[in-house]
Amino acid sequence: MNKVTCLICGTAMPGDWTEYPDYPFCSKRCRMIDLGRWLGESYRVAGPPSDDRSTAGEDGSSPDESR
Ligand SMILES: [Zn+2]
Repeated sequence: MNKVTCLICGTAMPGDWTEYPDYPFCSKRCRMIDLGRWLGESYRVAGPPSDDRSTAGEDGSSPDESR
């Protein structure tokens, strides 16, 4: 089964990935967020795209920090 999720917000992307012009992101918004991270990792362009707290880190400092 092909299970793909957005790299930014983790939103499930059912169906064929070719349906998503902004793959591997679910939307242009997430694409811009990723771009913003590359331009300035310490600078939050749009902030977290999702309000759910399922990805909140234990330390609560940087939920989206991957390293
Ligand atoms: Zn997304």
